[in-house]
Amino acid sequence: MNVVVWNENRHEKLNPKVTEIYPEGIHGAIASFLREEGHDVTTATLDQPEHGLTEQVLAEADVLLWWGHLAHDEVDETIVERVHQRVLDGMGLIVLHSGHFSKIFKKLMGTGCDLKWREANDRERLWVVDPSHPIVAGLDTYFELEKEEMYGEHFDIPAPDELVFISWFEGGEVFRSGATYRRGKGKVFYFRPGHETYPTYHHEQIQKVIKNAVAWTASLGAPTHQYGNVEPIEEISVKE
Ligand code: ZN
Repeated sequence: MNVVVWNENRHEKLNPKVTEIYPEGIHGAIASFLREEGHDVTTATLDQPEHGLTEQVLAEADVLLWWGHLAHDEVDETIVERVHQRVLDGMGLIVLHSGHFSKIFKKLMGTGCDLKWREANDRERLWVVDPSHPIVAGLDTYFELEKEEMYGEHFDIPAPDELVFISWFEGGEVFRSGATYRRGKGKVFYFRPGHETYPTYHHEQIQKVIKNAVAWTASLGAPTHQYGNVEPIEEISVKE
């Protein structure tokens, strides 16, 4: 499977604390544990030509992961349109944490995608609310992150096709932290945790969820329908 991990890669350059947690960048950390699954994993970042997402890179990608925060506005509309079309054509897309405000996620959702937030070292408890879903394979009924940024409801998204996780935070809020959508032939998974100043992507259960999500969002071998005006398959009898 061809997996591309996209990261804006700005916090890593601006904040030594983030560099200390993720010396290879958030994209490097995610790519590293996905390679353990035997996938062919490459990374792409905002400052590369075409943000590293050329026609060829996207054409070959089965799944794209997206982490962005500071620089959503710097993502070129042409690239957003290109990613959008690939999702409709069947590429899986996993949108992580502050990617809720990325152009591509908002375009796919069609809503404001806003939420409440707080950086106060809340404990986060992620409850599995769809125990039959492939994304939660191998997990317990819940798992915890000792410290995370809080995201709280209301989260302005369309009703998910499947709600996989609900998070509880120490300060009292809850959040739909794992949600799936079908768009065209593509599958989309939004997964909340992953604030840059916490070691969230080194957490065993987080890695398990992302590995499962890569397998689930890939639509390998799906049929391609032709749209528009078509000739009949059967001969149509002449009617009076
Ligand atoms: Zn954050």
